[in-house]
Amino acid sequence: MTPEQLRRYSRQIRVKGIGETGQQNLLDARVLIIGMGGLGSPSALYLAAAGIGHLVVSDFDRVEDSNLQRQIIHRHVDIGDHKALSAKRALDALNPGCRVTALDWQMDEEELQREISLADLVLDCSDNFATRFALNRACMDQRTALVSGAAIRREGQVISFLPGGAPCYQCLYPAGLENEESCAMEGVMAPLVGVIGSMQALQAVRLLCGDTDGIAGKLLLFDAAAMEWRALKVPRDPACPVCGE
Ligand SMILES: [Zn+2]
Repeated sequence: MTPEQLRRYSRQIRVKGIGETGQQNLLDARVLIIGMGGLGSPSALYLAAAGIGHLVVSDFDRVEDSNLQRQIIHRHVDIGDHKALSAKRALDALNPGCRVTALDWQMDEEELQREISLADLVLDCSDNFATRFALNRACMDQRTALVSGAAIRREGQVISFLPGGAPCYQCLYPAGLENEESCAMEGVMAPLVGVIGSMQALQAVRLLCGDTDGIAGKLLLFDAAAMEWRALKVPRDPACPVCGE
């Protein structure tokens, strides 16, 4: 690490479980984030600030005025522009030491597999089951850790899926969940996506530092109406079509 990097990341290097070794892991890491919306915004900002060496941000949507209530990586002037490019501008401005690659088209299966194979860790910040299932399957194929988040109304959840023995997304949710709810229909509180996206970034930083304690297979549920977190242990489904025998 350079003297500038040691100074920039000094408050994080002091933390137990990180240190210079952990910070170097972060600087060497390549992280793929799928979705630059409500969850992707805080996740990407925190990961860039924390010193991830290479962030690959994927989103094929464009910024709309109804996004700006919660998608804090984008600015009013970005309305109409690709979310991936708008996010890259914000991340470049935050930390020029973080390399950012913007993917502003819808990746096909082959491209997704390639991006995941290049990544050390993937964040699922998408908003639909089709993407979640495809990402889960590809991450299991490539044996890449996946940090999944979701938020709607006043409810949010986070869970990380690690290769090797732990459950996968499809152990938790059976395929065929097409009748999904959306923030467009149901609404979502602005700071709630900040809480959940930040928790995804927190788990990502810990996992990249090799600190998996208390993370694998644990579903964290946040209820912003009751102001309560609940933690549930998710068992692996032996009959799961993705990770089962
Ligand atoms: Zn599974």
